Amino acid sequence: MKFNYLKALFILIVVFISKFGLAQVNEIKVKFIGNCGLYMTDGDLNIYVDFPYKSGAFNYMEYDESELDSIKENSIFIFTHKHPDHYSGKNMRKTLRKKNGKKYGKWNISKLENLTDSTTGFSIQVFETKHRFSFRHYSYLITWHGKKIFLSGDTESADTILKIGTIDWAFVPSWIVHDANEKGMKIDAKMIGIYHLYPNEKVVNNSPDKIKVFDKQGETISIYIE
Ligand SMILES: [Zn+2]
Repeated sequence: MKFNYLKALFILIVVFISKFGLAQVNEIKVKFIGNCGLYMTDGDLNIYVDFPYKSGAFNYMEYDESELDSIKENSIFIFTHKHPDHYSGKNMRKTLRKKNGKKYGKWNISKLENLTDSTTGFSIQVFETKHRFSFRHYSYLITWHGKKIFLSGDTESADTILKIGTIDWAFVPSWIVHDANEKGMKIDAKMIGIYHLYPNEKVVNNSPDKIKVFDKQGETISIYIE
């Protein structure tokens, strides 16, 4: 009788450990969908940045319908601005109807600033940055499991990123790297991910240990958590 009781307790402890102890996260996976569209997950929280956008808008990258179908339920959607190569109202409405989730951008920026998760150390810093044909554009610095991930979006200037201390992964278009170079400055990032290539843009990468060019849709990288 006593033995069974202990056995039950043992099973309970094992269940408890596998749920809370061994569920320790060792990486953040980032999938490049297209343009500035990224899917990031630590296996628990699902975050989409500048996705869903309008496939093929302004001759930028297209994506398959299955990309929309594969969106995870109850995800967080974060947008830098509302240009169609970054955002699609139609696809977003469809997604929220089917999969729930929450969207953030210029319409609720203070809510986004307050979006935190203490268990995964998730927080987001918001920077109002300039983009010529957009009334409001934001760049973001996500801190997650102690890692700093910068999302530049479409802003023209490297000024904001140059003011930030060491970033683990900086996602920037190629013109931000050129702007920093022209200013005689260096982006302080362990890894720079060049995304949002122009249609037919080719980037020659001379330092693949420091720079990753996102020219293949669907490619995934891992940010390891020590
Ligand atoms: Zn754009």
